[in-house]
Amino acid sequence: MIPSDYPHVFEREPTALMMTPGAHQLFDALNGEARFVGGCVRDCLLGQTPGDIDIATPWQPSSVEKRLSRAGFSIHPIGIEHGTVLAVTPDRTGQFEVTTLRQDIETDGRHAVVKFTASYREDAKRRDLTFNALSMGPEGHVFDYFDGIADLRAGRVRFVGDPNQRIQEDYLRILRYFRFFARYGTLEPDAATLQALRDNLEGIRGLSGERLEAELSKMLVGPRAMTITQKMNDIGLLELIMGRPLDLEGFKRLIGLEGALGVPNVERRFAVLLSRSRARIDTLADRFKWPNRVRHRLRLMAQGELPPYNIETMIYRFGATTAQDWLVLTSVELNQAVNPELWALTQNWQPPKFPINGEDIMHAGVPHGPGVGDVRLELEEWWLAQGFAPGRNDLLERLSQIVGDRFPAY
Ligand code: ATP
Ligand code: MG
Repeated sequence: MIPSDYPHVFEREPTALMMTPGAHQLFDALNGEARFVGGCVRDCLLGQTPGDIDIATPWQPSSVEKRLSRAGFSIHPIGIEHGTVLAVTPDRTGQFEVTTLRQDIETDGRHAVVKFTASYREDAKRRDLTFNALSMGPEGHVFDYFDGIADLRAGRVRFVGDPNQRIQEDYLRILRYFRFFARYGTLEPDAATLQALRDNLEGIRGLSGERLEAELSKMLVGPRAMTITQKMNDIGLLELIMGRPLDLEGFKRLIGLEGALGVPNVERRFAVLLSRSRARIDTLADRFKWPNRVRHRLRLMAQGELPPYNIETMIYRFGATTAQDWLVLTSVELNQAVNPELWALTQNWQPPKFPINGEDIMHAGVPHGPGVGDVRLELEEWWLAQGFAPGRNDLLERLSQIVGDRFPAY
């Protein structure tokens, strides 16, 4: 079925990876009328254990539900309007997304109107890339309607059908093209594909920020992040989403540094590409609808946002994550390696607790009110400047000096 000169690892029969006891039960319940489809078939041909397992079947969704429930699966209608149910195996150890075969009847660049069909080929036709359109029956026979296996083997990323038309049906496919190119592409895109990618860039503007972010994030930390970012930049795609200029030099250094440390991080990658500009970070955060946690982390990465603290103080004030971000970003800027001792501190060092509380401060004579916080801050800054060395008694002594200066009446 697959030639032995297949360049990628192909250690096991595909069926061994996919045909778990749960999959057997599923195919039995559907009377054998179902196939594995999409990414899981592609992954398993490459000898990789697939992530999500998608199943296509000609059975109508209501029949799928009935048959699988009867066989002891629990059913969750996760996308029932598209004909998709999530089926969890009776022993709860596995799950499948089961979708009734579909064909597109209308597309507007973002959403598609579909109808159910009994044809696997029609279902394959609406998929984006030739190697994502593979399907595999329960016996392990692979159905390859558009030469996806040859493309996968050659490192050729190719749309099913006419690239221009397929992109105009769903502009997200531009980004998907690059994402899969990063994983499997070795041959440059052919002229028609490249032209179609370029000609349809503007369509990206109509897509939701969340969809764009999901695709882009995977690429920025995925394999060949630099190559693919460069390629997206070359055709103007990246600047359409992120504005310009993009700091590709910094991005390259960041990939190198994070690679050496083994800590790729997508938020840092966005921050560096955006030249750590606070205004641009905020604009992208709005567009991508980043949650506050992410927005906050990126803001702390903006140029000049953090005071010139030493690393311990940084950890104490902002936490280890921010201290790591700061170390990495400073090294990117200075074009030097991350200092291993400082890095180790961000991983192991626990900051001490400030040994003075509000009560101590009031006890020393500061009246209840905002003055307590001010004094606490002054005392804490002094303690930090001494490298956390002063103990409680030293601090109480210093406290009475501060109170004496600030509140002479007491
Ligand atoms: P991954 O390993 O990244 O999950 P995948 O191939 O499973 O890869 P998914 O995004 O999970 O990718 O999509 C599953 C399948 O659905 C794809 O293999 C493809 O056949 C189809 N598909 C997904 N999105 C699109 C799209 N925008 N246009 C056409 N087909 C799509
Ligand atoms: Mg998937």
